[in-house]
Parts: sequence; structure tokens; C-alpha cells
Amino acid sequence: MSIASRLNELKDKLPGTVRVVAVSKFHPVSAIREVYETGHRLFGESRVQELLPKYEELPRDIQWHFIGHLQTNKVKQILPFIDTIESVDSERLLREIDKEAGKIDRVVRVFLQVHIAQEEHKFGFSFREAEGLLTGGHLKSLSHVQVTGLMGMASLTDDTEQIRREFELLYAFYTKMKAAYSLSELSMGMSDDYPIAVEEGSTLVRIGSKIFGTRE
Ligand SMILES: *Cc1c(COP(=O)(O)O)cnc(C)c1O
Repeated sequence: MSIASRLNELKDKLPGTVRVVAVSKFHPVSAIREVYETGHRLFGESRVQELLPKYEELPRDIQWHFIGHLQTNKVKQILPFIDTIESVDSERLLREIDKEAGKIDRVVRVFLQVHIAQEEHKFGFSFREAEGLLTGGHLKSLSHVQVTGLMGMASLTDDTEQIRREFELLYAFYTKMKAAYSLSELSMGMSDDYPIAVEEGSTLVRIGSKIFGTRE
């Protein structure tokens, strides 16, 4: 099956409320073009040094989401064109994005990455930290970032009940925060766990290998 038909088949099965971020990391520009030709415009990359040359080569109407760990010293390079940074995992990074966005007079959409998995090495805020940021008034002083959503990655496990619990918790947190802060996106679900994420209330799934095939 072609890349394009894999994407279309995937989209056909999703509820209309869920959008797909086509995660193109480690895949060549030619593969991205194939997906682009179907009319898809939303793509995700996780490394700055890979995103920059792809951005240069590809059409400007692609909406790029940054989904990987972002070092503060690289923020400046992607800010002029990035649509959304989904992986904001520290207040320091948030402040750096605000500062650099101010310099180019942009307001950048960001999601807070929340740590929901059992693995310790994964990045993200705890629920308590994220709640503190969203309700504590800190964000009011940041006029060049707009926090519009939350992103989370479930544990890497075959235990689907564990995965479901993690997504369920994040959804509950999202619902609670929505009452206090204007969030509209919940990014959860990857190739192996997106059906569960969708059942648990995801609005945005980040799908790589299920569209593009396995990465090198
Ligand atoms: C690579 C990546 C994905 C996509 O992973 P697949 O399993 O290939 O769908 C989603 N989210 C993040 C944060 C990633 O780094």
C-alpha cells in the first residue's frame, strides 16, 4: 500500500473531531511530498537540524508542529515558521519562546507536554506543575506565546489498560484545565496506541510509522 493510501485509510476511520499530525522524522522529503499531494498539510518533526532543511525544500503552506525535546538555544531557528510547539516541557523553555517570538513580533502557539508515562526518562511537566503554570497567573506576562493545548505520551508497554489509564488521566486533567484556561487541543496517541487515545478524548494524533513505514 502507498503512503498516501495508508494516510487516507487512517483518516477515514477517525472521528471528524480528530486531526492527524503526520510525523515525518527520519523520512525523506519525497515521502512528505506524497502525503502533501493528498491535500494533507499538518506535519510533525522532532529534531531542529532535520526540520530546517525540510522546511526550506517543501511548500510554505505546510503547518509544522515541533514534537521533540527542544533546546532553548535552538528556539530562534524554528520560530519564524513553526505553527505549534507541542513539546514545551519547562517554564524556562516557555520563557525563551516568548522572548524570541517577541523579537520577531509573533505569537506562537504552544502545548504543554505533560508527563503521564511510567518511564522516568520521558520529558514533561507533572500534573501539578502544569496546573500551577496554567492557573497561577505566570502566563499573563508572556504575551508572545499562546498555550492552546496539552501533549502527552503514554508508557511504552503492551499493557493496554495501563495506556488507557494514562490517557484517561490526561483527558480528565485537560477537561479540568479547560475550565480555567482556554485550551482546545489534546495531543495524544501514536501509531501503536492512537485508537485508545481517540477513545479517551484525543483531538490530535501524532502518527509516524503507520503512515510512512518503519524508521531507519
Ligand atoms: C516519533 C514520535 C511520534 C510518532 O511515532 P510513531 O510510533 O512512529 O507513530 C509521535 N510523537 C512523538 C513525540 C514522537 O517523537
